[in-house]
Amino acid sequence: MAKRKPGETWRCWSCGKALIGARTIAGKVAPIEVDVTENANCFLFRGAGGEVRVAVLGGPLLDEAKRQGFQLRLNHFASCPDRERWRSDDKRVDEAERQDSSVRSDP
Ligand SMILES: [Zn+2]
Repeated sequence: MAKRKPGETWRCWSCGKALIGARTIAGKVAPIEVDVTENANCFLFRGAGGEVRVAVLGGPLLDEAKRQGFQLRLNHFASCPDRERWRSDDKRVDEAERQDSSVRSDP
């Protein structure tokens, strides 16, 4: 799977869900669902320079965000019906990059 950029939009290859890339606190780009969903925990915002970022909320902070009507979304990694196949694809790319960072592994 190709690496996505923050703000990039695409559809899940598996289930067709509309997704947007968002930079996580860990610095990775997560596939966040464009649709606002009940019982979600990802808050999208613009970081420095306008980059699309995501904060994952939990505990009392998540409850308060819901109470205040924050628009929350799901990380599609966690909600895609085919997520197990995603994870194995992702791991394969990471391993290929570790072995030789000069080789691109586009499927
Ligand atoms: Zn999907």
